[in-house]
Amino acid sequence: MSRMLSRRGFVQRAAAASVLATVPLGALASQARFSSYPFKLGVSCGDPSADGFVLWTRIAPEPFEPEQLGRVSFEVDWEVAEDSAFRHIAAQGSELAQAHLGHSVHAEIGGLSPGREYYYRFRLGPYESPPGRAVTTPLPGDSPASLRYAACSCAHYEQGFFSAYRYMADDHPDLILELGDYIYEVGYGERRVRLFDKREAFTLADYRRRYAQYQMDPDLQAAHAACPWLVTWDDHEVDNDYAGLSSADQACGGEAVRRAFFDRRAAAYQAWFEHMPVRPSRWRVQAGLQVYGSIDWGRLARFYLLDTRQYRSPQACAKAATPLTCDTEAGRRLLFIGAGGGHLIGITDPACQPELEDVSRTILGAEQESWLDGQLGSSHARWNIIAQGTPFAPIFEGTREAPLIYSDGWSGYPAGQQRLIGALGRHKVANPVMLTGDVHAFFVSEVRNRRDTPVAVEFMTSSIANNNSDKSKVLPLNPHILYHDGTHSGYLLCETTPTRTRADVVAIDDMHDPRTPRRVLASFEVSDGDPRPHRLPQ
Ligand code: CA
Repeated sequence: MSRMLSRRGFVQRAAAASVLATVPLGALASQARFSSYPFKLGVSCGDPSADGFVLWTRIAPEPFEPEQLGRVSFEVDWEVAEDSAFRHIAAQGSELAQAHLGHSVHAEIGGLSPGREYYYRFRLGPYESPPGRAVTTPLPGDSPASLRYAACSCAHYEQGFFSAYRYMADDHPDLILELGDYIYEVGYGERRVRLFDKREAFTLADYRRRYAQYQMDPDLQAAHAACPWLVTWDDHEVDNDYAGLSSADQACGGEAVRRAFFDRRAAAYQAWFEHMPVRPSRWRVQAGLQVYGSIDWGRLARFYLLDTRQYRSPQACAKAATPLTCDTEAGRRLLFIGAGGGHLIGITDPACQPELEDVSRTILGAEQESWLDGQLGSSHARWNIIAQGTPFAPIFEGTREAPLIYSDGWSGYPAGQQRLIGALGRHKVANPVMLTGDVHAFFVSEVRNRRDTPVAVEFMTSSIANNNSDKSKVLPLNPHILYHDGTHSGYLLCETTPTRTRADVVAIDDMHDPRTPRRVLASFEVSDGDPRPHRLPQ
């Protein structure tokens, strides 16, 4: 995009610390000098293809006062090298950091070689960004011998340190899959290791500061610099348990709350785009963002990134509104006590069942569901890895006679859940693997169809840092759950080869300790052609 503009004609030179005063509004600066280092939020890479990827950074010399940069846009140079010393440059160019997108840079790089690693960095005036490592995918017909990837979710900045991100970087995976709750919009908790700048984010400026606070964390920066990320989101990138254009507290008050939530969601979506290494074509002003998509790793694997928030119907069987919890004037609520959102519901409760099982209710939305069906049907990949934000296999609570499920997961949308299970069978999808986040606990489960036959495996990762959720006591109700740990944070480290997929449950001992050790709690393996996971000896 930047090459379309007349470069020198618009360039203004700005002197030290006075860039704001000397550059006219709307101008373009490439020789900027700032009062402070402008690459404080690090760099990242995403959406890899066989000939390139997206490179991201954001110009933020004063991350908590971004308005200081005003409406000036900057031309930022990038370079991609074949080696970490940047001796052999494979490509270089420049991209705009535009004011209306928070001075973020999303540079789409093409023309590179397939199936290899690269290194990249940015430059603006006298400033150079830290370097990052990128990887291109193999060619569509190639069959690589293996692929290593990490999966993570639920990073609450206040609840714990991001040691798990640092260990993910140390593992040198080819890819990192972000399964949602990358940020939290709200602060809470008994034991906080650090604080948000503001308790809850509502506006674009709030969310920008929230992402800036996260991305200044050195452990998160290390994970971003380690390899390309494939990202989707869950609820906390916007608001706890939101569904489409319904916030969890919508029942609290009419049109004003709905309007406030529409604006809030648009602000949160924009901030997500501004801070994620995703293709600019995903960005749709005010109309939402296309987060779902797929990426092929040669013939070895196809990754499907699902968006289970933007298009979903409200959770079924909402509790009656509790007026005491509503603050309708500000369109705000108290966390976890709204009328809507997720809660435990009885799947055999006659008062709930008709709504729960209504086939018109959806978690993906009709368009995404149809896209996914087409993608599954056309896949020639040996492994089909479905990465998404919320539990797929049921986690039954209550009793055997009166089972309860949490209404926010796929089991709260049983028609949609069965449509996806049906598509796996109808298209004879090879080796489906679900990768899931959301519940701050590790699970390894068989996904079973209505005849109780295993059709896929689900590997669910715990939180990077958030209070854990121990479900050990409900395991007797859930024979399809083969493993659970609800006492550790951490991530999954996976390896896929033509014959097997292995998942290591990697835990940190203590999220409150920035130097906590890590350990592999358990390892599971799935063989080509058999969806049942087997635990490996330690
Ligand atoms: Ca969530």
